[in-house]
Amino acid sequence: MIRKLISRVFKGKKPSASRHEPAVIPVSNHGITRDRLSSGSRRVCETLQAKGFKAFVVGGAVRDLLIGADPKDFDVATDATPEEVRAAFRRARIIGRRFQIVHVMMGAETIEVTTFRGELDANTKKDEHGRVLHDNVFGTQAEDAARRDFTANALYYDPATETVIDYHHGVADLKQKTLRMIGEPRNRYREDPVRMLRAVRLAAKLGLSIDPEAKKPIREMASLLENVPPARLFDEMLKLLTSGHAVKCITQLRGEGLHHGLLPLLDVILEQPMGEKFVMLSLANTDERIRRGKGSSPGFLFATLLWHEVLAAWEKQMHAGEAKIPALYQAMDRVLDVQGEKLAITRRIVGDIKEIWALQPRFEQRTGKRPYALLEQPRFRAGYDFLVLRAQAGEIEMDVADWWTRFQHVDGEQRAAMLLPEQAADKKKRRRRKKKPASDSVDRSE
Ligand code: ATP
Ligand code: MG
Repeated sequence: MIRKLISRVFKGKKPSASRHEPAVIPVSNHGITRDRLSSGSRRVCETLQAKGFKAFVVGGAVRDLLIGADPKDFDVATDATPEEVRAAFRRARIIGRRFQIVHVMMGAETIEVTTFRGELDANTKKDEHGRVLHDNVFGTQAEDAARRDFTANALYYDPATETVIDYHHGVADLKQKTLRMIGEPRNRYREDPVRMLRAVRLAAKLGLSIDPEAKKPIREMASLLENVPPARLFDEMLKLLTSGHAVKCITQLRGEGLHHGLLPLLDVILEQPMGEKFVMLSLANTDERIRRGKGSSPGFLFATLLWHEVLAAWEKQMHAGEAKIPALYQAMDRVLDVQGEKLAITRRIVGDIKEIWALQPRFEQRTGKRPYALLEQPRFRAGYDFLVLRAQAGEIEMDVADWWTRFQHVDGEQRAAMLLPEQAADKKKRRRRKKKPASDSVDRSE
């Protein structure tokens, strides 16, 4: 109690965080030499500095280098305005309306260059829950540091001097494997509830523990996420699911009480007793792919997350007398109509998801010319990977998946020998003839 009071008085008298003198940490201490940066980000900093601006590599990249991880991308922060940045490079364009950033193209690399952001003040526009709606004022480097979420994310690397500029003891926190919020966590979550998800994702991805002060309020403030625009939630959930640590993230989200009703995507994942095994298997599979640097497509991921809903709807359509293939197409549309809107899945991803689903019944056809045609499908690989997951989860016989694994790899003669015998083919043909009108209508719509 007394300690709380003292700390409150102390906090009140403390000068604002943005006026702190930063620590300037030399290379002898942190060991990050400038050649560890991407060549593009280094050149962007050098070019801006040569014109008299401040420019640093900032955020996730510095953090990742400090813990020995491979940075995903190198962002630059500067005191040059977006116009000044654009004018400094041959290939650069300003993007974003609310808070403009500049994309500078250097060879194959695109570097995101952001002008230092200013402090929030009485004029900052917020909604009725305290969520910041517009933050489009420029500021000093110190203010920019104070606006970032975690201390480990507020580090600036200067390639000219090879120093790390640290306003909030981020380097020390990283050494102690702690993810600490800058400022008062409750306020920071109110300003932007997505920071709760970021805390969970970054902690899981980086093997850090969330500082208790930042962890405690999450449970009670979780409902603020309802207020976040669905597209923003979708982006963050996608980052989480493709972080290479999806299983850990999902488990931890559950642990922090960040699920039911708050994150529609998470409800989809966790509230399907039939599908949970399939979904968790698929997430584990995605994690492994990403960690091996193989990448993963959002379309594939969402195709797995929603598959068991499609199966249920498919069954229902067939029960209602619809033929197999049209029933599948109707089920796909139905599930995507509902979930696509709720989850704010983008149109492009919807197309990918449908392709993967639509290929599934075609794997059942293992006679005549059809398997050869399927092999030639541009999306064969994704469809096949999906089939293997279904088999691993026990939804279909492993036989089918094994057959396709072999069929891809053997030579022409062996392939021909693998085709299923005539008898089965006849049966299939008979079935096809019976359903001909419906299948035709599907073919036309493709
Ligand atoms: P990742 O490795 O996943 O890219 P990151 O920390 O770099 O993690 P980004 O979304 O790329 O995440 O953001 C870049 C930087 O911008 C962060 O390091 C942080 O300093 C700042 N930032 C991002 N989102 C927020 C937020 N919601 N509130 C405050 N600062 C943020
Ligand atoms: Mg980043």
